[in-house]
Amino acid sequence: MLFDGPREKIWYYHDIVKDDMRNGNGLRVTIFLAGCNHYCQGCHNPETWDPTNGILFDEAAYNEAMEAVDHDYIQGVTLSGGDPFHPANRYATNLFVQDFRKRFHTKKDIWIYTGYTWEQLHDKNSPDYDALNTLASIDVLVDGPFKKELADVNYHWAGSTNQRVISVPKSDDHNIVLYEDEKKGIFQGKLLSGRFNFTSPLVIPPSTEIEEKTFNPEDVFTELERRGWKESMLKHK
Ligand code: SF4
Repeated sequence: MLFDGPREKIWYYHDIVKDDMRNGNGLRVTIFLAGCNHYCQGCHNPETWDPTNGILFDEAAYNEAMEAVDHDYIQGVTLSGGDPFHPANRYATNLFVQDFRKRFHTKKDIWIYTGYTWEQLHDKNSPDYDALNTLASIDVLVDGPFKKELADVNYHWAGSTNQRVISVPKSDDHNIVLYEDEKKGIFQGKLLSGRFNFTSPLVIPPSTEIEEKTFNPEDVFTELERRGWKESMLKHK
């Protein structure tokens, strides 16, 4: 159990919100953790940056969170912050996610908000690669730091448009599928080394037909327009 581990590996947290509608799909239980080293300009929660400035996530907090999730009207849990993938949080985040999966299987989903990008977490040479085993067990990752200049109050589930709401089971280190697009049956490709790879069923409703094609960069936006995609969907970095 995560609250039994070495003290320096246990989470500190700020809040457990039991009827959250802002941090993920449906009604959710959201745990706001302490600890973030992204220091984004315009961050709304700078008090969460210090990984030990919060309440120790003890057995009572754990039970409180699990009981709150265990209602039919709750779709799942969201781990936010702070950053659940702050080095001080990774160990406990992984334990919590594994434990949650064992308890609720796929009946409840898991969303994680992190200031790291998908690419950073998949970079074998990065010290942040160790968060990857946790990723394999979650449903949605909202990635990247908050960028004040890209802030958009109408952007769904994230604060700035560089952040992506990624369907984890559908994505891999070469292709990212956005959560909403997965629902619509539109899969998104990704710019790779100056070329754009599509691996996508491009019709609605979802098709089993997979199209794989590589475009020259100058043709990408014409192709996107033809398919009704928005150029802004590519401006991730
Ligand atoms: S990642 Fe989130 S919590 Fe961390 S500094 Fe950026 S906005 Fe604040």
